[in-house]
Amino acid sequence: MNDREGIASPKRTKEIIAKHNFSFKKSLGQNFLIDQNILNKIVEAADLAPNKGALEIGPGIGALTEKLALGAGEVAAIEIDRRLIPILKDVLGPYGNVTVREADVLKVDLKAFFEEVFVRSEKVSVVANLPYYVTTPILMKLLEEKLPLENIVVMIQKEVAERMSASPGGKEYGSLSIAVQYYSEPELVCIVPRTVFIPQPNVESAVIRLKVREKPPVDVADEEHFFTLVQASFTQRRKTIANNLKARYFSQEGRERMESLLAEAGIEPSRRAETLSMEEYARLSGIFIREEIR
Ligand code: SAM
Repeated sequence: MNDREGIASPKRTKEIIAKHNFSFKKSLGQNFLIDQNILNKIVEAADLAPNKGALEIGPGIGALTEKLALGAGEVAAIEIDRRLIPILKDVLGPYGNVTVREADVLKVDLKAFFEEVFVRSEKVSVVANLPYYVTTPILMKLLEEKLPLENIVVMIQKEVAERMSASPGGKEYGSLSIAVQYYSEPELVCIVPRTVFIPQPNVESAVIRLKVREKPPVDVADEEHFFTLVQASFTQRRKTIANNLKARYFSQEGRERMESLLAEAGIEPSRRAETLSMEEYARLSGIFIREEIR
């Protein structure tokens, strides 16, 4: 074993796969990273330190985990594929600060898991090359559970990264942009070509950093109401905000009342959902709650 080379070289990845007779499962989003430069960029963006923890989701054969073990104090990795557990034990053997848990991350009680594995860490980052078939549910779970996270640095589909970081006005801006930006400040770290993975994915990728906010940027009395209102506004993107809201909240006769509430919020009824800022949605949600429109 050549330690200096790291797991993420094409040669070592192929050796490990051959040694353990491993075959990739497309259904689990298994595209392993084989490029040290990209790994270094991911790890640098996470700003690790010996007094910090790192959670990895989907460690695969440990290419990124190895780097996390070198940079962070405590490292935990959650991997769904049972066949990878003995491989991880083998390759991560030299690192005493790594805990590997076999589980579906979507089913893990993360608060309890954090208490169990991050005993000494002052702050925790999530650092991962995510399985693309569950990118959004994983990120929303991490953000909504209000975990003690400093930042989330993840490789995801480029198109999803663009939607998460989009500003009002463009076609990428939607309910996902608002949900992610309510909890965090997204920043694009780099665009990543398909060639740095085996096997190569069908889409282009990007590394994104979500700096987790201590408190949301807008005042929202009822988060469920706010997010439902945002979703309803984007139901049919080509329609006006008035038409989408009417379909969800108002009867045939309610149009006038709705227009006066939109006017109170300073929103023209002919605007489309993609032009409204998070502040405008928060304001409208507050007015609807006051009027008991749910
Ligand atoms: N970190 C490795 C790397 O960069 O080479 C592997 C990344 S690969 C894109 C995604 C990994 O997530 C795979 O190892 C896959 O088995 C795992 N995975 C898929 N779904 C999962 C889930 N629901 N919970 C935990 N791990 C999952």
